[in-house]
Amino acid sequence: MSAIYVFIETFAGKALPTSWEALGAGKSLADAFSVPLTALIFGENATAIAQEAGQYGAQAALVCEDPTLTPYRLEPYSALLTQLVTTHQPKAVLAIATHAGRELLASSAADTDSGMLSEVIDLAVDGSAIHVTRPVYAGKLLSEAMSAGNGPVFITLRGRAFKANPINTAITITTVHPALSEDQIKTKIESFEAEVGKVNLSDAAIIVSGGRGMANNPKDAPAGVADAAIWKAQDGFSNVLQPLADVLGGAVGASRAAVDAGYIPYAHQVGQTGKTVAPDLYIACAISGAIQHQAGMRTSKVIVAINKDGEAPIFKMARYGLVGDVYKIIPALTAELKARLGK
Ligand SMILES: Cc1cc2nc3c(=O)[nH]c(=O)nc-3n(C[C@H](O)[C@H](O)[C@H](O)COP(=O)(O)OP(=O)(O)OC[C@H]3O[C@@H](n4cnc5c(N)ncnc54)[C@H](O)[C@@H]3O)c2cc1C
Repeated sequence: MSAIYVFIETFAGKALPTSWEALGAGKSLADAFSVPLTALIFGENATAIAQEAGQYGAQAALVCEDPTLTPYRLEPYSALLTQLVTTHQPKAVLAIATHAGRELLASSAADTDSGMLSEVIDLAVDGSAIHVTRPVYAGKLLSEAMSAGNGPVFITLRGRAFKANPINTAITITTVHPALSEDQIKTKIESFEAEVGKVNLSDAAIIVSGGRGMANNPKDAPAGVADAAIWKAQDGFSNVLQPLADVLGGAVGASRAAVDAGYIPYAHQVGQTGKTVAPDLYIACAISGAIQHQAGMRTSKVIVAINKDGEAPIFKMARYGLVGDVYKIIPALTAELKARLGK
């Protein structure tokens, strides 16, 4: 067993910042097993990104800048990862549990007949085994699991569950060759549209989320608006929740009820069928706290609930609760925070 591998996910020639958290988690394993921490970086700008990985504790990097690896496609990435794992037999392969991280590690784990532990929120080492903690049943329970045997284990990590470790390390960069040529890759990407300016809820340290109750806006919709309820809720999201998020430097999230009703696009949805988030602060506004919503935000460090129903389930998980109308509480809260933060 030669190393701890950490897949550094990239987009448009830059590393996703959560990848540095994965290196932080990998460092604890590499130190415990006394093996090098190796970053795997494929695609555009991989060598420059490897230098950056050295500033987050990586001692080695395996890079491949072949054009077949930009943008990300599962087949060439999985074939290359499988080839590296088969050849070098690392102790573990880590990645953040993004869409790409999940499918890539699962695919390569299957191809190498290895074990896979997903959505891990804590890691420890006991002898030669890796112990992990991971949420199950939509976050209702935490399960403990451990790796068995000597084969490499593939582990996806929940974003924001681990800390990046900014320690400057001398890094050895090795160039590797792609495992597939373009004519062996069935997926062809004809065009690629980036979601410029869209929310990145997964990285946000503060999230202000709104639910169905945002439609109870006392403001009158202007004459001629086709659907007053939708207008009122959309106004609530953009003119009440967004200013609070702005003053806190956070992002706006939503419940599925709000998304399904057309108050805000799906990119903002938090929950079982939306994004899983773990910010330092999650402010749930006019959200009842259904189990499917909790599944996506339960591991937030501090939860604040604002709801006019004092019996709403969200209060059971909130550290701080405010019972009242969001349209009275939030503007007052925003004004007070603006004054105190000098904004
Ligand atoms: C398979 C499946 C997957 C699902 N996935 C998700 C998911 O990913 N994310 C998700 O969120 N849900 C999901 N759901 C839906 C989930 O079950 C709930 O229906 C949804 O979360 C409810 O959203 P809500 O809390 O905004 O609405 P409600 O439950 O209707 O709650 C609205 C709340 O607003 C409060 N309120 C109303 N007006 C005000 C006001 N003026 N001021 C203060 N409070 C006010 C009310 O007291 C109430 O508590 C899923 C359901 C299923 C079956």
